[in-house]
Amino acid sequence: MPWFAYRNGVLCAEAVPLDHIAAEVGTPAYVYSTAALTDRYRSLADAFAGMPVLIAYAMKANSNLAVLRHFGALGAGADVVSGGELQLALKAGIAPGKIIFAGVGKTRDEMALALKAGNTGIAQFNVESEPELQALSEVAAGLGLRAPVAIRINPDIDAKTHKKITTGKAENKFGISYRRAQAVYAEAAALPGINITGVHVHIGSQLTDLTPYEETFQRVAELVTALRIAGHDIRRVDLGGGLGIRYNDETPPDPRAYAELVRKHIAPLGCEIALEPGRYLVGNAGLLLTRVTYVKSADKKTFLILDAGMNDLVRPAMYEAYHGVVPVKAPESGAEIAPVDIVGPVCETGDTFAEDRPMPPVDQGDLLAILSAGAYSSAMASTYNARPLAPEVMVHGDRFAITRRRPSIEDMTALETLPAWLSEAKA
Ligand SMILES: *Cc1c(COP(=O)(O)O)cnc(C)c1O
Repeated sequence: MPWFAYRNGVLCAEAVPLDHIAAEVGTPAYVYSTAALTDRYRSLADAFAGMPVLIAYAMKANSNLAVLRHFGALGAGADVVSGGELQLALKAGIAPGKIIFAGVGKTRDEMALALKAGNTGIAQFNVESEPELQALSEVAAGLGLRAPVAIRINPDIDAKTHKKITTGKAENKFGISYRRAQAVYAEAAALPGINITGVHVHIGSQLTDLTPYEETFQRVAELVTALRIAGHDIRRVDLGGGLGIRYNDETPPDPRAYAELVRKHIAPLGCEIALEPGRYLVGNAGLLLTRVTYVKSADKKTFLILDAGMNDLVRPAMYEAYHGVVPVKAPESGAEIAPVDIVGPVCETGDTFAEDRPMPPVDQGDLLAILSAGAYSSAMASTYNARPLAPEVMVHGDRFAITRRRPSIEDMTALETLPAWLSEAKA
């Protein structure tokens, strides 16, 4: 990762030494590299050059407004999964015509919000079930509109990734079985509030093998052909996200190889192509900066106890995910490497970032960087243990800016009120 490298013995984000950020912002803090975000977006956009493509950033990976704004300025749209995300995308200046609304449980209020966004409404709803189709038709017809719809097809293909991020198998809750697709498209075409625009698939996240994609694209191409024969005007094929990144020793696919599969199987259909990358665009563009509070030597182990915890970064606890951890001060060459457990301060055994991780010597007070923390990291943070959300910092060359500050205890309790019978009681 060239955006995070040692210079003069200190780990830097672009040209900014991370100890400067820690001194100004405190720890724990998320740090994002603008150059990394740009590089990732361009590498994908370039791979699809010549194909009519909408890159709808799956903003659930990282919904920081500055990140959204940056991708929007590069030309990205947004893939949103809630009314909240829809409003954030609009607030960041992303045009409604570049917004795709996904998710298995859209409420009628969220549907109405999306139908009315801007003056035009959003580009597309990705519908996941027949009851949702009915509800969307009713809401749209009630507003005198027709909702642009792609139906999410569950291709029953194993994405060969972690079970908690597999979405394209028949037993997953997502989408409509491809065997039932014709029937559901016929039903959709007969509804007054629905305008069929396309087909959607998304088979999972952190895919490191292109084979499941190729099988899916073949299946989608066959389906589009069959749907057209049945008289449906399929203008957009939305291929979802899921491109994997390197956390440890994975060899994720090159976006050009991924694009070649699309060129081969999907481009000949002559549709607009939508992509919904999340992790690929942001995962390796961020890190979590943290300080070692204590080094604790126990009977069998040495623990590095950090000021970052599972509330800040839940991926290791939730998905058994690997994150690289490196000292901010470059280790001396020939430094002895020994295994340590790297843990947070939260009162849960699951609050462990790494077990038996080979590390150079680390002292109390040292800064560490937890790598590949741009995706599903800050976005999944909580305030468990009344810990404030870690602030977010964006680096641009030799400059940096706080894009979300650390909340105060007043911020954290701003939504709470005591019931009258407690606030009246005199202590
Ligand atoms: C989560 C999700 C994405 C993004 O997945 P990544 O693995 O982050 O690229 C895209 N589309 C849908 C429907 C999703 O649920």
